[in-house]
Amino acid sequence: MSTSITFEREAVCPWSGARAASIATPHGTVRTPAFMPVATNASLRSMNFTDVIECGAEIILSNAYHLYLRPGHELIASAGGLHKFMSWKMPILTDSGGFQVFSLDEFRRITDDGVHFRDHRSGRAHFISPAISMEIQNAIGADIIMAFDECVKNPATYGEAEVAMKRTHRWLEICEATHSRKNDQALFGIIQGSMFEDLRRRSAEVVTSFDLPGYAIGGVAVGEARSEIERIVKFATPLMPEQKPRYLMGIGTPWDILYAIRCGIDMFDCVAPTMIARHGSVFTSKGRISIRKSSFRTDFGPIDETCDCFTCKFHSRAYLHHLTKAQEYAGATLAAIHNVRYLIREANNARQAILDGNFREYFERLAPILIQQNEDRALLQH
Ligand SMILES: [Zn+2]
Repeated sequence: MSTSITFEREAVCPWSGARAASIATPHGTVRTPAFMPVATNASLRSMNFTDVIECGAEIILSNAYHLYLRPGHELIASAGGLHKFMSWKMPILTDSGGFQVFSLDEFRRITDDGVHFRDHRSGRAHFISPAISMEIQNAIGADIIMAFDECVKNPATYGEAEVAMKRTHRWLEICEATHSRKNDQALFGIIQGSMFEDLRRRSAEVVTSFDLPGYAIGGVAVGEARSEIERIVKFATPLMPEQKPRYLMGIGTPWDILYAIRCGIDMFDCVAPTMIARHGSVFTSKGRISIRKSSFRTDFGPIDETCDCFTCKFHSRAYLHHLTKAQEYAGATLAAIHNVRYLIREANNARQAILDGNFREYFERLAPILIQQNEDRALLQH
């Protein structure tokens, strides 16, 4: 099929298969590995776009489900599309709404045709099918759009996972057939199959048999243990074509990202950096910390001495501690700037290591530190 994006691999790590690449889209080029900050409601929580650009973001993710409910995809189309509506000139990816709809649980009913659900705010009834999801995402107009898939929660039985996977495949066929803007929007297919390797293999075979511009792994980080996430990512990534972009949906922590890059993933997104920032939680090279802790009251050093973000350049832990205690909006903003920059910088550093031919050394130096931090994750309440 014709494609609106071009993907070029610049370097591949011979030890791991990790790739440095670029994705040229109608709104500019994304250098990968790339962390995509999440702008759920066409806005990054607590941040304005000059902050986001200064953090080095080259692409952001927005949620078709939320935009469909509010302000409505027709309104966005009448504004000239999402780029114009939100005044963001760089690439945008929208997810299909599948993940959000399936998270609703008791408010939704899935059939082979699509999903009936109720708006979690107003209670109004809605129906989204694969064709309607394409209509919504075509109206919104992101550079990369996602197929409408069924994501099962974890744990799922083999039978449940298989039914959802088969439905995802049938729906992909409809998405591909009804996607009306192939000249300027790239449709990515999503591999499902929960924690079952044979299902993941079957799903990868079917999904990649559609000649799409890119592919994604969905249905991970939905409640399973870290070792399970790693097992599936390691298993499924090599099943995706080397010459196409690979996107791991909804990942993750600094360790999750490093591990995904090692497996050969190019793109990832996570709502965590802005979400945890609202509660005063920030990434550091020594692990995640809560800036609200009293020990930071008189700490006049930066959040992280190795960080080059605006917050770390100009502000101290003591100031952030004060802002979060006083519930000033600036506290969440400065923490979000730091967290988003932190993950973008991690992806950039990995990219540089791949280009320099020393990714293995980079990975082996960083992995023990990040794994240790991940073990501590549960203990660090935000
Ligand atoms: Zn910083």
